[in-house]
Amino acid sequence: MIQIPRLSPPLVLLGLAGALGLALLVGNQVSSRPPEVGPLEPVVAAPAERLEVVHLQVGQTFGEVLQRAEVGWSDQNSLLLAFREQANPRRMRDGTRITLRWYPEGDDLRGVDVTLSRDETVRLLRDEAVWSSDLVRTPVWVDTVFVSGAVESILWNAVIDNPALADLPSRDRALVVDWMDKVFQWQVDFSRQVREGDSYRLTFEREVRPDGSMRSGHLIAAEYVNQGTPYRAIWFDPNDDGDGTFYDEEGKSVRRAFLLKPIPLSRISSRYSNARLHPILNTVRAHRGVDFAAPVGTPIQATSDGVVVYADRKGDLGKLVEIRAPNGWVSRYGHLSGYGPGIRVGTRVRQSQIIGYVGMTGLTNGPHCHYELRRNGVALDPLSINLPPGDPVPTSDWGRWALESEERLTLLATLPGPPILRVAENPDADSSESPPDPGGD
Ligand SMILES: [Zn+2]
Repeated sequence: MIQIPRLSPPLVLLGLAGALGLALLVGNQVSSRPPEVGPLEPVVAAPAERLEVVHLQVGQTFGEVLQRAEVGWSDQNSLLLAFREQANPRRMRDGTRITLRWYPEGDDLRGVDVTLSRDETVRLLRDEAVWSSDLVRTPVWVDTVFVSGAVESILWNAVIDNPALADLPSRDRALVVDWMDKVFQWQVDFSRQVREGDSYRLTFEREVRPDGSMRSGHLIAAEYVNQGTPYRAIWFDPNDDGDGTFYDEEGKSVRRAFLLKPIPLSRISSRYSNARLHPILNTVRAHRGVDFAAPVGTPIQATSDGVVVYADRKGDLGKLVEIRAPNGWVSRYGHLSGYGPGIRVGTRVRQSQIIGYVGMTGLTNGPHCHYELRRNGVALDPLSINLPPGDPVPTSDWGRWALESEERLTLLATLPGPPILRVAENPDADSSESPPDPGGD
């Protein structure tokens, strides 16, 4: 195994934030470039080899590539054996890049590199008579990015065009917008409520490859100021298992127990109504749900955690999934073309998990998802009720939360923006207003 050290995170805190005041766009991120290390350094100094690069064709196997390249039989077997120690030769993706490294003279192979993914390469080396293998991981650099900006019209442009993020590939900038949208979906409808003069601040941690692309990343703290009201979200992961979530500066969940809609980018084609003219039957019937129009095959997300209690055809609703959530809540998704991976009665699902795909089964005149929310058997309008809040920071984690949230808010506060004032100190304290501090200032 070739060891490539994982570089420790340099927290790039630059002190220029205060000086910039309410400057339009500020960023002091990515000040340190990823190290200039290629994923595969030559084992021996240069011209001692002749490279032949081939790409796995559809239906072709690694063995066939070796055969075609006229690698000797004993080498072929030994290579496959060594390769199997790292990966399954039958599970290689079409287009996988295979680099055959020949000695410059003669027909002898000295090494083979199989690029399994952007992050993993199997390197096969001749070890006297047999072959040995190593899994080489593309090194990543961990860093923290700070960025803030003002919004002129839409959040997308404000983030995508932020010069502070110019070094990020556009795909990664789009991801940042998506994170913001997901985190603040219950507070701000970025498609309708954004106003000129809104602003944002965010910091995120990421793993960067040598080519500057992000292998993974997540927000640490974020703020969106919408029409003068700041909304904040702080990442907290008490078990350090990646399964954290976001809370506001007072430790309340930023999330709600239900998503607003089961398909993020969809159009409402029919609202909840006690009497609507049915588009096909042409009679007046109640519509105890909301229809979200989207192309056939669009993934549909569970709007809450819960258990699947129904996944089958049901009359006019066609293929239907029903999910039971705590406290008597049930959500239903109809007209599906198919069910999500592993979705059957009894399956536990998490909020946002894909439970099915948009279709036209049952009685419908176009592809859409019929979405219903019921509580104790009573249908409710999912667009007009006050969705139940998510759980706050657990009392048992409060000590750690207090420390970590303070640190994360401090990161945010290095960027220009409104002051961050915290109120809550203890979740068990009286939740009513505390008496004013008699000392004043
Ligand atoms: Zn409907």
